[in-house]
Amino acid sequence: MAGLIILIIAMAIGAFIYYDHKGRTLKYKAPDTTSQLLEDNVSFYQNLQLQDKLAFETRVKDFIEHTSIRGIDVEIEDLDRILVAASAIILIFPFPDWKYNNISEVLLYKGTFSKNFETEGEGRNVLGMVGDGALHHEMLLSKPSLRSSFNNPTDGRNTAIHEFAHLLDKADGATDGIPEYLLTRPEVLPWASQIHKTIQHMRATSHSDIDSYGATNDAEFFAVISEYFFEKPDKLKEHHPELYSMLEKMFNRGSG
Ligand SMILES: [Zn+2]
Repeated sequence: MAGLIILIIAMAIGAFIYYDHKGRTLKYKAPDTTSQLLEDNVSFYQNLQLQDKLAFETRVKDFIEHTSIRGIDVEIEDLDRILVAASAIILIFPFPDWKYNNISEVLLYKGTFSKNFETEGEGRNVLGMVGDGALHHEMLLSKPSLRSSFNNPTDGRNTAIHEFAHLLDKADGATDGIPEYLLTRPEVLPWASQIHKTIQHMRATSHSDIDSYGATNDAEFFAVISEYFFEKPDKLKEHHPELYSMLEKMFNRGSG
């Protein structure tokens, strides 16, 4: 009898542990509705050719199955996980071998939070954050902001894309606005000087089309301009052709 009970318990636990084809345990099993949820909610995906849609979906599934995504005092749904993963993949979709090696967990909050990770009280105005120090490998996002970013895909703002841009930047060891993996060596200095030129111009004018938060420092500039690039490429190209063409090269979104 005891043996039978142990067997039943073991089977019950087994039902909640998933393995991928390489035998790695999965954090979560991607739902069968993944492609439909992408089609209904992610405009980037809607605009892909069928072959690319399949590739995008595979990478989204891989991301959510190997990255812990948890709600902090808030229920999260399959859609939230898929939107987090889509944000990650949109940035690096032309690089099939890219894997984020500096993220293991994404925490979703019911609202904004302060820089001390409190969700109540004064100074709770942060929508997203990439952890440092003890929170290395963690990303914090506001769930409502994640949702609204995808409900408004052309307003130039996307909190999760912003945070994943910081991770891309950080992948070379320094969050400095210069994502070295996306640049060839001769491109580094021109990119740095383009950042400084644009920040100077933003600080000198009160009506830049680039979100003023981007003028905070070089790292914020890269994250903010990435949001702009993926949400309003035509407008960016029109207003900042030089900047646009550098980003187009970095994100490998040229004619090919
Ligand atoms: Zn930022």
